Amino acid sequence: MSLKDYEFWFVVGSQFLYGPEVLETVAGRAQEMVDKLNESKTLPCKIVYKVTAKTNKEITDVVKEANYNDRCAGIITWCHTFSPSKMWINGFVDLRKPYCHLATQYNVSIPNEEIDMDFMNLNQAAHGDREHGFIAARLRMPRKIIAGHWTDPKVRERLAGWMRAAVGVAFSKNLKVMRFGDNMREVAVTEGDKVEVQAKLGWQVNTWAVGDLVREMNAVTESEIDALVAEYNDKYEMATDDIAAVRYQAKEEIAIKKMLDREGCMAFSNTFQDLYGMEQLPGLASQHLMAQGYGYGGEGDWKVAAMTAILKAMSEGMDGGTGFMEDYTYHLEESGKYSLGAHMLEVCPSLAAAKPRIETHFLGIGMNEKDPARLVFEGKAGKAIVVSLIDMGGRLRLICQDIECVKPIMEMPNLPVARVMWKAYPDLETGLECWITAGGAHHTVLSHDVTADQMRDFAKMMDIEYVHIGKDTTVEALEQQLFLADLAWKLK
Ligand code: MN
Repeated sequence: MSLKDYEFWFVVGSQFLYGPEVLETVAGRAQEMVDKLNESKTLPCKIVYKVTAKTNKEITDVVKEANYNDRCAGIITWCHTFSPSKMWINGFVDLRKPYCHLATQYNVSIPNEEIDMDFMNLNQAAHGDREHGFIAARLRMPRKIIAGHWTDPKVRERLAGWMRAAVGVAFSKNLKVMRFGDNMREVAVTEGDKVEVQAKLGWQVNTWAVGDLVREMNAVTESEIDALVAEYNDKYEMATDDIAAVRYQAKEEIAIKKMLDREGCMAFSNTFQDLYGMEQLPGLASQHLMAQGYGYGGEGDWKVAAMTAILKAMSEGMDGGTGFMEDYTYHLEESGKYSLGAHMLEVCPSLAAAKPRIETHFLGIGMNEKDPARLVFEGKAGKAIVVSLIDMGGRLRLICQDIECVKPIMEMPNLPVARVMWKAYPDLETGLECWITAGGAHHTVLSHDVTADQMRDFAKMMDIEYVHIGKDTTVEALEQQLFLADLAWKLK
């Protein structure tokens, strides 16, 4: 399902105490708020007003329906009036979907002349939302709380951001990952407990033989390759005479895509150590597949492949760019310190500042018989994040760092791959010490569209550990946080 196919259900809490007229007003205003939020175009998905709930049964009924409705990616609650929260317990205990408490009120201001006890009885979100908040705290529910007026653009943007994170959760619960071969030999951080990951995040991670892919490649026709090469010519600048190498990448892409689509997989991994029967490591092929929304991870890194797909799903329709990344080299001059990210071949062209060039170059690593074709470009500038999911043994840890991508400060004319350069927060050294302290991988997902807040929401909804490295992070505070988190997660 695409982002636009998902909806969020608006559930308003109340009770019978106020009489039918007040309840009608509450329901009418809830519908009006939902309509205006939908009309605002700031939200990525539709909100559907479901019910002004007055009883335990109404709440448990709407929760049951939400749990089993595939289109419903989460519920948003609000209390215009006072909704005694014991009636929410049974429903909340059963809730399996992301939950946002919108602490708002219908009116913006207190109407000086008009205000009387009738007004107060109708407009009591200030204490209705507190009673509502208590029960979720008491039940230790993962939730997003957004406070402010529902017409405030900041409130709408935060709601939109949470909705995208919730869609990431829905996407994750259905995600299938295709592994071609195993992980790169001896590498630790790309390993992980696939059973735990499936139980927590929903991912179905399974292996297919490289030989299956080679058989699929052998069945690709010349006319299929012609069509895809025409697409390459349209999107990219053909900067190689080795058209045979480009056609070979097209053949790989077509075969991989057929296998992914047949199995319903939105992410895949492969490794340069296992290319038996293939002439080239898929470079351009993997890059163009990422541009279409598929997640990818090199060296058998199925976790980063899955996370790439999830962040792409969360940011669907945005144009900043999201892709698989690897920290390669530093520029440690006092005048300006930068990280240089790239990969052997596979950097997503959604990150490109200008039209990527198709080039072919020798690749010494791996079993390449021919020079693989790949897209070469400079990454675009702007605020971004890098994200890494690691398996700590017994739990998953999601690490997110704020970065600022820059136009690369040098040309690097002999570097035959796409490159992205960035400044790390809080600064290169502290950020690096924090990243290493937390155990973050060399592989990441880099995104200009997804935010650290959204990753925090995602981790909360998935009940996994979250570590954020931002402008205010210090090594000392992070060490303390990780020490306490380690104890807490062992008790959980
Ligand atoms: Mn790598």
